[in-house]
Amino acid sequence: MKRTATAVRSGAQRLRQFTESVIREQTRMAMEHKAINLAQGFPDFPCPPVLKKLANDALAADWNQYSITWGLPGLRQAIAEKAKRYNGIQADPHSEITVTCGSTEAMMCAFLGLVDPGSEVILFQPFYENYHPDSYLSGARPRYVSLRPPDWSFDETELRRAFGPKTSAIVITTPHNPTGKVFSRAELEVISKLCQKWNVRVFSDEIYEHILYDGARHISPASIPGLEDRTVTINSASKTYAVTGWRVGWAIAAKPLSDAMRKVHDFLTVCAATPLQVATQGALALPASYYRDLAKEYCERRDYLIAGLEDVGFRCFKSQGAYYVMAEAGKFLNKKLKDDTALARHLVSNVGVAAVPGSSFYQQSGKNARNDLLRFCFCKKEETLKEAIGRLKKRMAVAP
Ligand code: GLN
Repeated sequence: MKRTATAVRSGAQRLRQFTESVIREQTRMAMEHKAINLAQGFPDFPCPPVLKKLANDALAADWNQYSITWGLPGLRQAIAEKAKRYNGIQADPHSEITVTCGSTEAMMCAFLGLVDPGSEVILFQPFYENYHPDSYLSGARPRYVSLRPPDWSFDETELRRAFGPKTSAIVITTPHNPTGKVFSRAELEVISKLCQKWNVRVFSDEIYEHILYDGARHISPASIPGLEDRTVTINSASKTYAVTGWRVGWAIAAKPLSDAMRKVHDFLTVCAATPLQVATQGALALPASYYRDLAKEYCERRDYLIAGLEDVGFRCFKSQGAYYVMAEAGKFLNKKLKDDTALARHLVSNVGVAAVPGSSFYQQSGKNARNDLLRFCFCKKEETLKEAIGRLKKRMAVAP
């Protein structure tokens, strides 16, 4: 059937404040130009063989139907034990843990279930791009607090000013995407005081909790006095076990918060993929050595990528955690390549390497917005990183 030219009413109003994901757009461009994708953060190496076996076994054992909406009881039990052991969080697996389709859904459930239209949500900037649409889809207005390089610390006064009677929640990502910052106990205590004063909830994205460098320690906001009952702790199998396509995530929160989030999850997705929930339960039983090796291997990749990028002429901020590096690209900006977006486009189409323009992590019109940064991810095989650096070295020297 032929489409008519008549204007049909399309996109809802609530979509107007944000664009499609720049990260995923870069992935599509990388595929189109056969570029190496150092944009979207997903590994190009296989997940641990034991996970493949767990998933295969789950399918062979006929785990093919919906799970209980809140997640398989065995998986919730395993998450509760891990939260107690690693995060210092006590949670009742029956009423305080909800398994979701990735941490992306968990965060959306937190926003839609707990944030009222007309309220405000505090985001540290640069922010992971999802939180912006999450805020607008829930009808809230984001308030931004800057993380300032080189250490990406925040100014206490600026943070204090962002809180007010309309504040509903603050989003914390630790280790942080895109900067690699790991929030310290002292910083979390400052946040806790303000959250108690203004009765604000914390939405804590901790998906990189095991990817830590140079002795950095992961501290879960929910383990800080004053935040236990007001924090939604979000995590997933994606980054820890190199299975970003499995879409198995979870949210841990006190019962009143979990009840609200479960109402959204129930109608949004019903449940995460059942056989992969079974496999994730098995993954949570991996020994401590798995996590030690994970951090060590990512640390080597970080050092390799940073050294290569600096050789090319980028100035890198050394990440303390997660698998990204923010790089200053001012040296490459000129009349033709005016900003990070133009440079990222040039990189993907002419150099053969995809990165994310830093501006997609900033409020567009904000006074602290930067347009001279690129985010590169290093969750890739050594040979992939080598090839990327090789292309950058060879082709960045040539004027566009
Ligand atoms: N978290 C990853 C990143 O920041 C993947 C983003 C996504 O597409 N969900 O690149």
